[in-house]
Amino acid sequence: MMEPKHAIWIKDPMAILAEGAERGVVVQNGRIVELVAKGRQPATPATFFEAGDHVVLPGLINTHHHFYQTLTRALPAALDRELFPWLQALYPVWARLTPQALELGVNVAMSGLLLSGCTTTTDHHYVFPAGLENAVDIEVAVAQRLGMRVLLTRGSMNRSQRDGGLPPDSVVQDEDTILADSERVVARHHQRGEEAMVQIALAPCSPFTVTTSLMRATTALADRLDVRLHTHLGETENENKFCEEMHGCRPLDYLEQCGGLNARTWLAHGVHFNAQEMQRLGKAGTTISHCACSNQVLASGCCPVCDMEASGVVIGLGVDGSASNDQSNLMQEVRAAFLLQRARYGAGRVSHKDALRWATQGSAACIGRPELGEIAVGKAADLALFKLDELRFSGHGDPLAALVLCGAHRADRVMVGGRWVVADGAIPGLDVPDLIRRHSAAARAMQAG
Ligand SMILES: [Zn+2]
Repeated sequence: MMEPKHAIWIKDPMAILAEGAERGVVVQNGRIVELVAKGRQPATPATFFEAGDHVVLPGLINTHHHFYQTLTRALPAALDRELFPWLQALYPVWARLTPQALELGVNVAMSGLLLSGCTTTTDHHYVFPAGLENAVDIEVAVAQRLGMRVLLTRGSMNRSQRDGGLPPDSVVQDEDTILADSERVVARHHQRGEEAMVQIALAPCSPFTVTTSLMRATTALADRLDVRLHTHLGETENENKFCEEMHGCRPLDYLEQCGGLNARTWLAHGVHFNAQEMQRLGKAGTTISHCACSNQVLASGCCPVCDMEASGVVIGLGVDGSASNDQSNLMQEVRAAFLLQRARYGAGRVSHKDALRWATQGSAACIGRPELGEIAVGKAADLALFKLDELRFSGHGDPLAALVLCGAHRADRVMVGGRWVVADGAIPGLDVPDLIRRHSAAARAMQAG
């Protein structure tokens, strides 16, 4: 990885998602220090990177994922099922997850994300079979090796079938273990401040896999440790039914009762909130990770993104786990969100720029990192550069629109904190065929049992 101390001018891009930066941007010490307007030269002395063949975006930010699920993509037993039976088909396979398999799964997920132009990702890891106690530590090590910015969550499940929950006993932990490990991983890995490369959040999995006691204790712990809180909510009609039967209220009421309806929290999905609930989310400052592909694959429904925004709810994008997507390509997720929401709301309300905004500024707000997700002076030098030289782009007009409409899927260059982490469409030092070989073998072993 190259680590420039000097300034670099990303010079004369074909197009850039920023105002007043027609001649590009200058980055130094991990930040954007200058936008170079039409007809101007940089004021900062800088070497330059010729970007005439590139469309420059702020690095995309992924707000929901389960990296380990790359090991169970397109699993026959889970095909053509909706969320609850889909989970029930997968839990026994996930119970066989080992540290070695997780490391490979994380590597595949993060590499796929980076190559798609994603510079910051979250992960929601909530499966902790015996022997996998160090799951979050394994994820941190891979992120540091790849140079990717991450907000990893210490997920949890403690309501198994024994207690009326969905998962089998073998994949859950008890409340004390979960809370103690949550404190441990925050103390060990969570960095504060705008330069942070690794952050930790707490993430009880869902109302149907976590007890009320743990849900309450986790929101209180997130407050005390001052870290973000994440969970799945409003994903399916079945979840509504479960909450009404188990807790006598709807999922959002339940979250509020447990102390989680506030600006610290971002929620995955938000498909099934009603108008009054959207108002409450907006007022509370709780944000939503929209997972368009996953919601379509599992037939969960369509998150009412424009109604959410009209209610003051900030929307980010998430690819979701690679067993319900089943890939980790955030640029393709931008297109999927654009298509789904345009079909719902029409051409006058949803443009390609809205979808790009969700994946950048919106996602940055979801994870509490306003210094990311935008090309502006003082923001982090996290950039994704795409070429439009593939067959799919031939004949394009507007370069920014072409990224979304023609289906860009692979960045040519990616910069995180001023360092190039993808060059010429590849991650320096990553042997992709070897990774595929080892990851596939681990997946086969897990699926075979
Ligand atoms: Zn999920």
